[in-house]
Amino acid sequence: MAQIISGKAVSASVREELKKETAALIESSGIYPGLAVILVGNDPASQVYVRNKQLACEELGFHPFEYKLGENTTQEQLLDLINVLNKDPKVHGILVQLPLPDHLDEQSVLYSIDPAKDVDAFHPMNVGRIMIGSYSFLPCTPAGVMELLDASGIEIAGKNCVVVGRSNIVGKPMSMLLLQRSGTVTICHSKTKNLKEVCAEADILVVAIGKPKFITADMVKEGAVVIDVGINRDENNKLCGDVDYESVEPKAGYITPVPGGVGPMTITMLMKNTLRAAKMQNGIED
Ligand code: NDP
Repeated sequence: MAQIISGKAVSASVREELKKETAALIESSGIYPGLAVILVGNDPASQVYVRNKQLACEELGFHPFEYKLGENTTQEQLLDLINVLNKDPKVHGILVQLPLPDHLDEQSVLYSIDPAKDVDAFHPMNVGRIMIGSYSFLPCTPAGVMELLDASGIEIAGKNCVVVGRSNIVGKPMSMLLLQRSGTVTICHSKTKNLKEVCAEADILVVAIGKPKFITADMVKEGAVVIDVGINRDENNKLCGDVDYESVEPKAGYITPVPGGVGPMTITMLMKNTLRAAKMQNGIED
């Protein structure tokens, strides 16, 4: 039987800390961490994500700035708004909710955000800083995974770490963070040969592929730490991860459930980045 790593519980305790730190910042300097969230269009899932970010801001005492732009917003209008927010001292973090409508160029939009306010850590400057291990912000999902491993007292140094998935927002930065903590890291993807054998060697297995219940018990070593980043719907339209939880849980040493595992950490890490941005932009050390 695996020990269940509860993202809900870890996220709640990180938020308690952030709440205290925010109150102390407001008390000592009058600075309210400000997060601007830009939503373009009417995608229902994006609307839910944006709402949850606003609620998290309210919970922690941040100032939320919400910009809901119409589906037909032009590239120029969006870049103009980002330019204004880049210069606004009350806004410490800027997040553009993805995906953007097809007519907008996602890359140039993300690259136009001031790296000091890029709390998603998608700007090449922040991506590069992760690579050299000298970063201000970490992308929220991999940062959340690290927080879960640390909160569970899991040692990373010297461990065989296998990351399945090599996306820019999850797999690649995840691999870098494990490497920085001296894990021996293997990155797998859709062209990897003998995936089952590679996964079965992992002491720590992180899966981010977007395929429901793809990782089965025969791909997991007895006692391994299994972190499931995937968020999918199964054949009954029920939320599930990339790991076949039922078969893997009895074999694993630790496992994250879906929902309630990695998911709750992501917005919390966004808030952590925003608080840090507010301090950095005001010359306050952590
Ligand atoms: P992407 O689709 O961008 O990347 C998927 C990766 O998985 C690719 O690198 C792909 O390989 C690899 N892959 C796909 N099929 C296989 C396979 N059969 N064997 C091995 N590797 C495979 O996804 P994301 O990284 O954005 O997201 C992954 C999952 O995580 C999704 O379910 C997403 O919803 C979830 N997610 C959850 C978050 C959270 O907050 N918990 C946040 C972000 C994402 P290749 O590069 O070769 O194509």
